[in-house]
Amino acid sequence: MMGSRKKIVVIGLCGASFDIINKLIEEDKLPTIEELIKDGVVGLLKSEFPPITPVNWASFMTGKNPGKHGIFDYEIISRDGNKKVVDSTCIRSKTLWKILSDFNKKVGIVHVPLTYPPEKVNGFVVPGYVLSQEKTDTYPPELEEELKEKVPGFDKRWLRIKWYAPGREQAFIKSMWDITRIEEKVTLYLMKNYEWDFFISVFFFLDEVQHYLWKFYTDPSYSKDQIKDAIPRFYELLDSILHNILEEVDDNTIIMVLSDHGFGPLRKIVFINHYLWDLGLLKLKRSIPTLTRYLSSKLKSMLKLPFDYPRLLRLSLSDVDFKRTVAYSTGYVGKIYINKSLVKTEEICRVVRDYIIAKLQELKDPESGIKLVSKILKKEDLYHGSHVDEAPDLLFEMMNLSYITRGGGASGGGSIEFGFDLNTITAPPFNSQSGWHREEGFLIIKGAGIKKGVKIEKVSIRDLAPTILYLLGVPIPSDMDGRVLQEIFEC
Ligand SMILES: [Zn+2]
Repeated sequence: MMGSRKKIVVIGLCGASFDIINKLIEEDKLPTIEELIKDGVVGLLKSEFPPITPVNWASFMTGKNPGKHGIFDYEIISRDGNKKVVDSTCIRSKTLWKILSDFNKKVGIVHVPLTYPPEKVNGFVVPGYVLSQEKTDTYPPELEEELKEKVPGFDKRWLRIKWYAPGREQAFIKSMWDITRIEEKVTLYLMKNYEWDFFISVFFFLDEVQHYLWKFYTDPSYSKDQIKDAIPRFYELLDSILHNILEEVDDNTIIMVLSDHGFGPLRKIVFINHYLWDLGLLKLKRSIPTLTRYLSSKLKSMLKLPFDYPRLLRLSLSDVDFKRTVAYSTGYVGKIYINKSLVKTEEICRVVRDYIIAKLQELKDPESGIKLVSKILKKEDLYHGSHVDEAPDLLFEMMNLSYITRGGGASGGGSIEFGFDLNTITAPPFNSQSGWHREEGFLIIKGAGIKKGVKIEKVSIRDLAPTILYLLGVPIPSDMDGRVLQEIFEC
């Protein structure tokens, strides 16, 4: 396996926060990452907006903005509100691994989100979690059987996961460790036993740990030590895994470590559809099922019932009357779609959009009275390319992403576009999440010909594909949006 040709290994740590990394380095808790930073270049990595896992990994693997690769959320939302969970077939652009394969480079793609179903590459693909879940089909297909045989726990690993539930923190933490250890074994097995020029392995479950345990880590009122330390201990686990991976690479291998987005607190969910409804821009269907759901929500608000209704009794996008609705919100973070079957001309669309922008700027937290929206972007200001039309018309950020809208998680099932309590537009986060994504990930690159101990700036996740192609001597397609990070090279 060890040869003299240049190779690249990329390790993704989903959601790793550079603030936490720096804090733990000061405490001497992350020796591998500390050494990589000392011997290489380091900087913040700008995510796509919104900083959502599939959007960012699609930009990583295409070197393009979402307007070209067509991934804007966990789901593709059609103009009548229908949803399809995104997978690798939704990426409308050639991937880095396909380009490398075409130039006869051997690739190993392990656990990268949005790689199910696996592409036929010159090498192998083991799809990642998030959107593939129980489906583990690999490319080539026989690799799956081999991994089941060689890596204990690989078979049915997703099914054995114990997801977070309040009071079951220890079981959740153990499960996240176990699955990460299996991911490590898969990575090491494939690195050792297969030939590759480009190898990437992504560790996803730090993201999950931070979503649910953020408050235990950051809120001083929690004193249960083991839970409180679960987040820093997970970083330490990943640092030790990195150490084991680096044992397997030679001096001709360039090492990249990155996170696709950062992390911070999550305080509230905002039901933008309630707001659009109040403004008269969204209308509900006049049907018996919609009326039933409306009345059950109303009853819950009036009686202040503490329990949750089943989702079937909650209003959802299926209750929206698209024949009379001008604008609606769905998806993560903050997105508004203007209903083009009703708003037909560009001119009216612009007027509607400006009106919504003005109204969003007035939006306040009913409890604190503080204005919520800190950033509003029109799709054409954020994205460019032939798929911009499919993007939401407006994207916005509230309270530095500590307030988000939420529209049906890929794994959560069902839609959550309306709250239960129709009297308020905000609510505590669903399913006990207390942490959420931020726009800053980080990037470390180390290897022969790369500067040492240097900070780099203004690096976007789109820049990595062109930089990797450049390092491996493969021509960069002219329609890639990212740039080659020339500043990392020793002259
Ligand atoms: Zn996440």
